[in-house]
Amino acid sequence: MDLFEYQGKQYFGRFGIPVSAGGVAETVDEAVAQAEAAGYPVVVKAQVQVGGRGKAGGIKLANDADEVRQHAGNILGMDIKGHRVDRVWVEQASDIDEEYYASFTLDRAAKQHLLMLSAQGGVEIEEVAAKDPDAIVRLHIDPVDGLSRETARQAAVDARIPERAVDGVADILMKLYRCFVDGDCDLAEINPLILKPDGAVHALDAKVSLDGNAAFRHPEWEEYDKTEVLDDREQLAKEHDLQYIGLDGSVGIIANGAGLAMSTLDVVNQVGGEAANFLDIGGGANADVMAAALTVINHDENVRSIFVNIFGGITRGEEVAKGVVEGLRRVELRAPIVIRLDGTNAEEGRQIILDAGIPASKLISKPTMLEAAREAVRIANGGEGGA
Ligand code: GDP
Ligand code: MN
Repeated sequence: MDLFEYQGKQYFGRFGIPVSAGGVAETVDEAVAQAEAAGYPVVVKAQVQVGGRGKAGGIKLANDADEVRQHAGNILGMDIKGHRVDRVWVEQASDIDEEYYASFTLDRAAKQHLLMLSAQGGVEIEEVAAKDPDAIVRLHIDPVDGLSRETARQAAVDARIPERAVDGVADILMKLYRCFVDGDCDLAEINPLILKPDGAVHALDAKVSLDGNAAFRHPEWEEYDKTEVLDDREQLAKEHDLQYIGLDGSVGIIANGAGLAMSTLDVVNQVGGEAANFLDIGGGANADVMAAALTVINHDENVRSIFVNIFGGITRGEEVAKGVVEGLRRVELRAPIVIRLDGTNAEEGRQIILDAGIPASKLISKPTMLEAAREAVRIANGGEGGA
């Protein structure tokens, strides 16, 4: 789950990472009150989960209440790259000598944590990576050993951060690493990390993505549910308690088990198609779950065919078949279903589907995963259904 800047800064605060004094506001009056509390001059910042807010007019300096009114009035409700601004963060403005970049992520392939540090911050790190890759220090950290202060210092030196900022940067790296590990982040990024004229180092922005798998040990994360940004499809899936991830293709996917769902994406890809989503309906594929899954997939306008790929284990074939038949009765689908049903009681399941007498323009049964994938992709790519 991605946090907004103001939430990320509050999260940083818990780990002792210095940020500017400020507060969040949903109205112009609240913005003025936050500015008065922080002290002028202030910066009014649009809270959207997308970079480049400054260029889009979403970050403005204000010297007094009138200017706060004017800027907050313009920024609240603004559209930045398709994201509507519902809140602004108002903080004490900072004098900046230099802007750096620092982040921790998990490098799954290397099975290690990855620090990225650069003396060229304030711009998108992808841009730095493209223009001047040597300006980014990449350092793998063994999660068992952790990050030592010497290593953090050395990384700052290697990134060509000036001597007077090295200790301050190293200190923040240590704290950001604790935030990343103890705070269960997938990403903890500061861009820019600034050096002020007085030599202090300070986080001017915060990008934090939390690892949802760790939610069980963070009851305090519940407050982020209220502000979480999901696309329509993901919102609907969440309401139905489904494990769903929206993708960009045209073949809707329903499978039981995360492993099978992932293999299904691969097979669709292998035969020249693109999946519209990942959806794992788990073990309990009854009519309610199937109807909910079909509803969510049907909501996606890009979907041209729906590949239901079920291998019955604990889930029995006839349950799945009943679910599909009932789901078809409840949901008026825009795209045909291609179903592959195998495993426990698959025969009984196929018979139920046959007996339901659903026309082949709506439901096609195929005996293997590969054949079903070919058929679903053929339809999605413009071929006629019912072959
Ligand atoms: P992003 O571009 O959407 O990631 O927004 P940031 O919060 O990173 O801000 C973008 C840029 O605005 C920074 O790199 C700074 O150059 C500038 N900026 C933001 N806050 C301040 C501030 O308090 N003082 C000054 N002088 N510049 C600021
Ligand atoms: Mn930034």
